[in-house]
Amino acid sequence: MTTTQPDVTDIVVVGAGFAGIYMVHKAHELGLNVIGVERGGGVGGTWYWNRYPGLRCDVESLDYSYSFNEEIQQEWVWTEKFPAQPDILAYLEFVATKLDINKDFRFDTEVTGATWNESTQRWSVATTAGTIDTKYVVWGTGMLSIPKIPNIPGMDSFEGELLNPATWPQEPVSFAGKKVAVLGTGSTGIQVIPIVAETAEHLYVLQRTPSFSLPAHNASLTPERVAEVKAHYKEYRAEARTQMLGCVTETRGEPFEVMGPELARAELERNYNYGSPMRFASAIVDTVASEEANNFTASFAREKIRERIADPALAEKLMPDHFITTRRLCIDTDYYETYNRDNVTLVDLRDEELLSLTPKGFRTAAGEYEVDMFILATGFDGVTGAISRIDVRGKDGVSLSAKWKEAPASYMGLSVAGFPNTFVVTGPGCPAPLSNVVLSIEIHIEWIANMIKKLEADGVSTFEPTAAAEQEWTDHVNAVSDSTLMRFSNSWYVGANVEGKARVNLVYMGGVAPYEAELQDVANNNYRGFELIH
Ligand code: NAP
Repeated sequence: MTTTQPDVTDIVVVGAGFAGIYMVHKAHELGLNVIGVERGGGVGGTWYWNRYPGLRCDVESLDYSYSFNEEIQQEWVWTEKFPAQPDILAYLEFVATKLDINKDFRFDTEVTGATWNESTQRWSVATTAGTIDTKYVVWGTGMLSIPKIPNIPGMDSFEGELLNPATWPQEPVSFAGKKVAVLGTGSTGIQVIPIVAETAEHLYVLQRTPSFSLPAHNASLTPERVAEVKAHYKEYRAEARTQMLGCVTETRGEPFEVMGPELARAELERNYNYGSPMRFASAIVDTVASEEANNFTASFAREKIRERIADPALAEKLMPDHFITTRRLCIDTDYYETYNRDNVTLVDLRDEELLSLTPKGFRTAAGEYEVDMFILATGFDGVTGAISRIDVRGKDGVSLSAKWKEAPASYMGLSVAGFPNTFVVTGPGCPAPLSNVVLSIEIHIEWIANMIKKLEADGVSTFEPTAAAEQEWTDHVNAVSDSTLMRFSNSWYVGANVEGKARVNLVYMGGVAPYEAELQDVANNNYRGFELIH
């Protein structure tokens, strides 16, 4: 019998998205050995898997990119205001080559488990290509990487094409001459629906909850605009870091009460015309906190939706009724206009419940529909989904998914009590989901690398947050969130979209800049809240 010896390293980085790429680079800078593990065939993370037509980011490309390397931000040329998926993937491939990190990644390899070994005070990481013995594990598995597959009766019986945007085929998919159903009207559905409608014989949109969406006004970036930002990129990035959402919004930062209805309306109009969910959401600073401000913003957005739909009765069916920004505020290109086409039918699942898929289509309480293709734009098991499906065992064999089943707690949104020498990038309880996530990731990776540097210099063998610090941070996250209208949210921001998932505030609503200040304070106070063992 042969026993395969585990590979030995200092840091295992799981995932080759924005977080994993930067973390491997940081390990190089620290002079530590690193092994990256990625289940995809290359870098990209969620941008590797999500390839559906129409996909682009809702944060502007000049913001949605790394700020840590002047050469990269000067060399790379963004061509559109909002970057399309192929451009983001090409950008990440460019960065990975530039930083020479591909050689450290094991692609097409999945992490199946990770076990803390009390006697060696190290992690044993099980992968589909062998075991790795490591001092640190950094989980860069992403907030939106595991699709939520709904449990609809008859799904197996469907004889047509069943597609999921989050695992979209690499080869082109044709809708031409087909009858297509799209289930789900979140950011993904809203992007794919207009594209499908262009060539499909007929499109059925199955909507349970309408979203708020604004026109993206996507356009080519002028060379002048790119040159202007590049000339002052350092200052531009520095300003982004002072903001609540991690990107420059150029808004007044005033609450509704101070602005009054006239100015508030003018500011909403100005930001609506600009086309950016970040800017629109920040136009009145207390939109997410005050019912009065929220109702004002929501009424404005509803008015704009009505203007885009020819049939007033249909417009009412597409009208969202939740507090705006407590679910993802979407942006679109021709989403509402798509409903003015003859080949598009809205199937309102609140009027006719979806009962099942059938071999030839789907059945609702109102009848049968024949389709050739059924697209599940049904979202993700957000924030905790990717790690929770891996068998991670911390001290005393405690399972992370079991611990998080009750309530996904963390300390500072990046570490978990009972799980030493581990960081969860953009974990539960940080502002990342409601921010320019690339900046949120940079903040985490830089903080993690600084901590590892200090621990190595001081000869610390293990660290973990105390249970008390974790509880205190979790209570704070909940208190801040509950002081906003997020307490009424029923989206992935609070885990409400996944059956059986604990309802918990996955987003720290305190904002990016105050959050980073808090992280710095923890570091400055000898990593307050962490137990460090020499
Ligand atoms: P989502 O926002 O969670 O939307 C999922 C949609 O599917 C909802 O309309 C939901 O309705 C519906 N749905 C789920 N299960 C269903 C069921 N069993 N029956 C009927 N309807 C069902 O997911 P997403 O659209 O994939 O977006 C997730 C996040 O990804 C976004 O919030 C955003 O952060 C990110 N994203 C961003 C972009 C972008 O940058 N432009 C694009 C795509 C995704 P209910 O709400 O009623 O459950």
